[in-house]
Amino acid sequence: MKSKFSVTFLGTGTSQGIPVIGSDHPVCKSNDPKDKRLRVSVLLSWDNFNYVIDCGPDFRQQMLRENVSRVDGILLTHEHSDHTAGLDDIRPFNFIQGIMPFYAHKRVFDDLRERFAYIFTTVNKYPGAPNIETIEIDKSTVFTIGGKEVISIEAMHNTLPVLGFRIGDFTYLTDVKTISDAELEKVKGTKVLVVNALREEPHYSHFNISEALEFVEKVKPEKTYFTHISHMMGFHADVEKKLPKNVHLAFDTLTIEI
Ligand SMILES: [Zn+2]
Ligand SMILES: [Zn+2]
Repeated sequence: MKSKFSVTFLGTGTSQGIPVIGSDHPVCKSNDPKDKRLRVSVLLSWDNFNYVIDCGPDFRQQMLRENVSRVDGILLTHEHSDHTAGLDDIRPFNFIQGIMPFYAHKRVFDDLRERFAYIFTTVNKYPGAPNIETIEIDKSTVFTIGGKEVISIEAMHNTLPVLGFRIGDFTYLTDVKTISDAELEKVKGTKVLVVNALREEPHYSHFNISEALEFVEKVKPEKTYFTHISHMMGFHADVEKKLPKNVHLAFDTLTIEI
């Protein structure tokens, strides 16, 4: 039983993961385990609670790797497939614990209702299909999970609003390109920040590394971990050397205690 609040990086890769299928890029061929990145997700654990942010296509593999036998709820940042395509694999948890609470924006649930109609149907639903409790949140929602307050933060992923989450001294934001001053205020004062940084080159819907570093300068956390990383970022070991001393690239399996 864990008493401290811990964050385990289940995946730190961008939408295709690293290695990319069929790629001859040197980072995709790297033997360094830190250059292998599943789709982005974190496990949050404290007391006897486990919560997961996002549920991408590697969810099953991530749950097995980290020996997770109970999940109390799943928080979704947005509807993109690299954050939601693992929905079917919550079934083992349904069989053990019953219905799974999901926290997401109404727009995200509307999208999932179309893409995963078999999960949400009320007519002749297959008995073995996933069982989801939908809890709608938006940027002004403060909610409680496992006795901890969660502050929702809205950022823009090009034109798509996405949600990030602040729990005490920890803030998780991914797939961010821009953020309003009002939402930035919610992030300030956080001690540990996880935020997306795709690569060196600019991208229309994600922070590149210099935009992510500018964001870090505004927030001024004690420690920052970059996630949602492309193979085009370069080798983990090389990029680590170039970053300020309180900023790191996250890697899959990394656990931090807050
Ligand atoms: Zn993404
Ligand atoms: Zn996205």
